[in-house]
Amino acid sequence: MDSVAFIGLGNMGAGMAANLAKSGANVRAFDLSDAALERAEAAGCRRAASAAEAASTADVVITMLPAAAHVRAVWEGEVVPHARPGALLIDCSTIDVESARHLGELAAKAGLRSADAPVSGGIAAADGGSLTFMVGCQDEVFSAVETTLAPMAKAVIHAGAAGAGQAAKICNNMVLGISMIGVCEAFALAEKLGLQPERFFEIASKSSGQCWSLTSYCPWPGPVAAAPSNRDYQGGFLTALMVKDLKLAQEAAARAGAATPLGAQAEALFALFEGLGHGARDFSAILQLLRGRLAEL
Ligand code: NAD
Repeated sequence: MDSVAFIGLGNMGAGMAANLAKSGANVRAFDLSDAALERAEAAGCRRAASAAEAASTADVVITMLPAAAHVRAVWEGEVVPHARPGALLIDCSTIDVESARHLGELAAKAGLRSADAPVSGGIAAADGGSLTFMVGCQDEVFSAVETTLAPMAKAVIHAGAAGAGQAAKICNNMVLGISMIGVCEAFALAEKLGLQPERFFEIASKSSGQCWSLTSYCPWPGPVAAAPSNRDYQGGFLTALMVKDLKLAQEAAARAGAATPLGAQAEALFALFEGLGHGARDFSAILQLLRGRLAEL
């Protein structure tokens, strides 16, 4: 098994690095947080003193960082200058398409292989090794990326060339943001019309309103036992992260000249909900804003 440098051991990276170590990979881990490094050591990783040191001894370098500024700083300042010749660099963070393409070019100029491989699935999927990876890389690099990511994955899908993984990620999450608001509006209207929410769920889930936001992640507490709506909207996918992804989608749409009016509305609504102090709640809690029942949160 290759030696892997894993940089960024937060909510997502901690479980991912642990699953790599469990699969037998020799993982050298780095994070700015000491507590994160201690958790990684307990999960079978070896601690590195810096991202540069971790990268300098690895066949594969994986980054899982908060946003593009962090990824650019770590790749430009530490990983690319110190990586071994021919090393494979994989960024799993969610960042903008332009930055992903720029980093792909930077790696190629230094003689390194690289991929953008953002994920779908939250902390539970990171811990459980069941993430979906959307990969942007050259055809000849994909098989090595797939093998590396397999211990952390339910699926690894080649989206296209550099940046295509990020493009797929923001398009997918734009669907998710819009569909969740659609489902929440429908519950709010059903309630006003005197329909039992549970009965509406039963009917819509067997009708053309069926979608993931309804049947796997129902925002109304009750019908889907595993949904965050049954845990006071704690955990799950934070509203702040949905705002981040919808902003990335809007920026990409503006640059590409794509019309995404519902994506813009979804971004505005989730940003409003975050501004009201609910950024740390699961995004499906926006139901209570649309019902006019914020006081219940
Ligand atoms: P997080 O903030 O919990 O973790 C990021 C980690 O990076 C932190 O531990 C931080 O200390 C570390 N870090 C920051 N700068 C660093 C540097 N220069 N060197 C080393 N370490 C550094 O974030 P997260 O929730 O794990 O998310 C990571 C990425 O995954 C983000 O891009 C996010 O958008 C994406 N994502 C998150 C989720 C989710 O549910 N949390 C789901 C899908 C995708």
